[in-house]
Amino acid sequence: MQREYQQALSQPGVTTGADVENAVDASLAAQGITTTTGGTTDQSGNITITPRPPNPCNDVLNAATWDHERVHQQTQQSLEALHGAGTSAFNNAWNDATNWVNDDVNAYRAEIDFWTNFKSSCSACGA
Ligand SMILES: [Zn+2]
Repeated sequence: MQREYQQALSQPGVTTGADVENAVDASLAAQGITTTTGGTTDQSGNITITPRPPNPCNDVLNAATWDHERVHQQTQQSLEALHGAGTSAFNNAWNDATNWVNDDVNAYRAEIDFWTNFKSSCSACGA
């Protein structure tokens, strides 16, 4: 996913976060890959985790999604502290394609770290 996001920046006309998401979705669809949205973080910093049926596997998936979304929330808080809530400077920074890609690369890195730690924990207990 990190490469998909980085490659979106080379697409013509990609200047906003929405453009990035559309480019990533189009690239994945062209490869026959369908995705679902595990969660979102809005420009006020509110995290929404897409509901999944309750079970132990989904609890783990949700925990990974939380780690991803917390990266976006921290970025939102940093941008708000820098530019002020609701200012045009904040909105421009929040929706900037390059910032968007960098933030998702970092968010997916957090998920990779989550799964690496999860696998290590499972190995350590013999699972
Ligand atoms: Zn993300």
